[in-house]
Order: sequence, then structure tokens, then C-alpha cells
Amino acid sequence: MLKNIRIVLVETSHSGNIGSAARAMKTMGLSQLYLVSPKYLPDEQSIALAAGADDVVRNAVIVPSFEQAIADCSLVIGTSARLRHLQSSLIEPRQCGKLAIEAVKCGQKIAIIFGRERVGLTNEELLKCRYHLTIPANPDYSSLNLAMAVQLICYELRTAFLQTTPVSVIDNSVMSPQHLATAQELEYFFAHTERLYQSLGFIHNQGVMSKLRRLYQRAEIEKNELNILRGMLSAVEKRLISVDNNS
Ligand code: SAH
Repeated sequence: MLKNIRIVLVETSHSGNIGSAARAMKTMGLSQLYLVSPKYLPDEQSIALAAGADDVVRNAVIVPSFEQAIADCSLVIGTSARLRHLQSSLIEPRQCGKLAIEAVKCGQKIAIIFGRERVGLTNEELLKCRYHLTIPANPDYSSLNLAMAVQLICYELRTAFLQTTPVSVIDNSVMSPQHLATAQELEYFFAHTERLYQSLGFIHNQGVMSKLRRLYQRAEIEKNELNILRGMLSAVEKRLISVDNNS
């Protein structure tokens, strides 16, 4: 189960941190590592710090964009030390463990995203996450080393996994992997919404889109529900075209 949880490191600057994160993952039973445009590709330093987890580094998937790292995932969790303002989607490591294991039991693909050493994740990236995870650290000094943050989250994932029911009795009927919309499908929907409502003069700036993104992320939209929403957008578009043609 833990193998279905993806750890994503965004634009890591120190190749050693990639190795340390891999080691942190493997000690807890995780193996799926994605690297979004790392500053340096995994090198000797990464392998040295990975110790016996060099296989995790060697098998890491390197992608050019954040979107590509999460495209097929239906549960995306972003981590940051500075999230207090995002009350409605804020979680802590223990809750993250439980949520992720529950989701994995339903066959969902999950990504947990870690930011850049110096500046973390951007607001735009955080908006693409369903949940925002903060390790409740010392408020005066809350920023952990990247690999240590990975270690702590992976430990909670393992703890939640060890407390869970065996896979054989899992009820897959509740939410099959096909049911929830993926990050990519949501992106298409957001782009469609923005295009249409910009052309209608309703959306003038990113503020409205950010609010809509948060709203729809909270709704945990299923694929068939997303089809209805896309259909509604298309119906308006069609009508607009016929009005245009008639005038
Ligand atoms: N100065 C940056 C710190 C980045 S630390 C900032 O303010 O965001 C590198 C990464 O480690 C972060 O992007 C996050 O993924 C993780 N991390 C560090 N401390 C954390 C904390 N207290 N809670 C959650 N994630 C943390």
C-alpha cells in the first residue's frame, strides 16, 4: 500500500537532500519518488546520502513540471511550514497518515509534495493541492530540513498503515479509483471555467479563480460530477456561439 504513495520533491537545490529523502522513504517502506526539475540531477552525493536506498534514487521519475508529477493523482497533499491562513484544508502529519492510507485502500493515487529548500512551494502550487500539511513545529523556527520533513511524514504514513485492516477485507466498492477526478482532469476543468467566464467578462483577475479552485478542491469532485460541470460550461458556450451567429 505504501508503494502507491508518491513523494514529490519540487526543484530541490541540494542533490544530497534527494538521497536523504530517498533513505527516509525506504526506511518507512515507500519507494515512489518523483523529482520536479531538480537543480542538479541525482549524483554521487545523492547516492552517498541514500546509503542502501540508492534504488529509490535510481528509480526516481524526473519530470519538468509540477502538473506532470501529479496529473494522474486524485489526492494531492502539499506541505509547508507557513500555512496557518489555509484553515479549511489544513492537516497535520497524523491526520495525513490516516487520510492517505484510507485513500490508498480505495485505490486512489496519492501525491505528497515537498517544496524548495529556500522558498518552499509557491501559492500557485499550493492551490493545486486538496490538503495542506503543516508539521506543528516551534512557531519561532518552524522550517525543517527537507529530508527530515519527508522522514516525519513517511513515519506517520507507516504508523497509519500498520494500524490498518488487512487489504483482503478492504471494501473497494465505496470509492473505486475511477471515481474521483484526477489533478489533470481538474486542471482542464479550471482552464475551461476560466476561459469561458473571462470571455463573459465575469472573471477579471486570478482572485476569483483561486477562490473557485479552493471551493472545487474541497468538494472532492467525482468524474461523473465533473462531466456534468464540463457539460454545463459547454452548454453556455454553445448558446453563446448561436447568439453570436444570429446577431
Ligand atoms: N523557507 C521555506 C522552507 C522550506 S523547507 C518555507 O518557508 O517554506 C523545505 C520543505 O520542507 C518545505 O517546502 C516543506 O515541504 C518541508 N517542510 C519543512 N518544514 C516543514 C513544516 N514545519 N511543515 C511542513 N513541511 C515542512
